[in-house]
Amino acid sequence: MLCGPGGAGKGTVAARLVAAVPKLWLSRSWTTRARRSGEPADAYIFVDRAAFDGHAQSGGFLEWAEFLGNLYGTPWPVDAGEGMDVLLEIDVQGAEQVRSRDSQALVILLLPPTAGEQEARLRSRGDSEEHVMKRLQAAEIEASRARLIADYEVVNDTVERAATEIAGIIESRRNERGYVPDVPVKES
Ligand code: 5GP
Repeated sequence: MLCGPGGAGKGTVAARLVAAVPKLWLSRSWTTRARRSGEPADAYIFVDRAAFDGHAQSGGFLEWAEFLGNLYGTPWPVDAGEGMDVLLEIDVQGAEQVRSRDSQALVILLLPPTAGEQEARLRSRGDSEEHVMKRLQAAEIEASRARLIADYEVVNDTVERAATEIAGIIESRRNERGYVPDVPVKES
């Protein structure tokens, strides 16, 4: 799981990871949040609250949480395919739920390099000033709560470096499990 405060760059690092690490599958979440302008249509499965609630009630989520008034959830069962590891890019409440279901689940806390960089990233999404301020406040709580469950903390100074560090963490966890990739490991 990749979790961490808003503006840490989780989405970009997650995309880089699935491109670079073999047999890693990124779960696509459901959300009731409206799609941002310029946001890819497949960034989430965008649904209304009734559809989300119905899916939650029928046990369709591995975890779900409310973040700043919107619901986000990981659909379940996970359809990753044989031998794939699943990458979840989720908020700290979701990471806590998954960790309590599976104590072996790896939690990586991604942190922004500086508060200024974090704020700039949050502003670049085109959210309202009020929303940016709410996200900045939530980010502080998010980081301190995530520290309590994180196995590793990685600073997203550059996407390439952070992704390489996380790829190394995944590889060593796989080695501990005796995992043998059946596809060649890509050179970065
Ligand atoms: P955003 O609105 O910026 O796309 O996401 C807001 C927060 O929700 C981020 O911290 C993101 O990681 C988190 N998030 C995205 N998908 C999920 C999910 O399936 N479950 C949970 N718990 N959080 C999610």
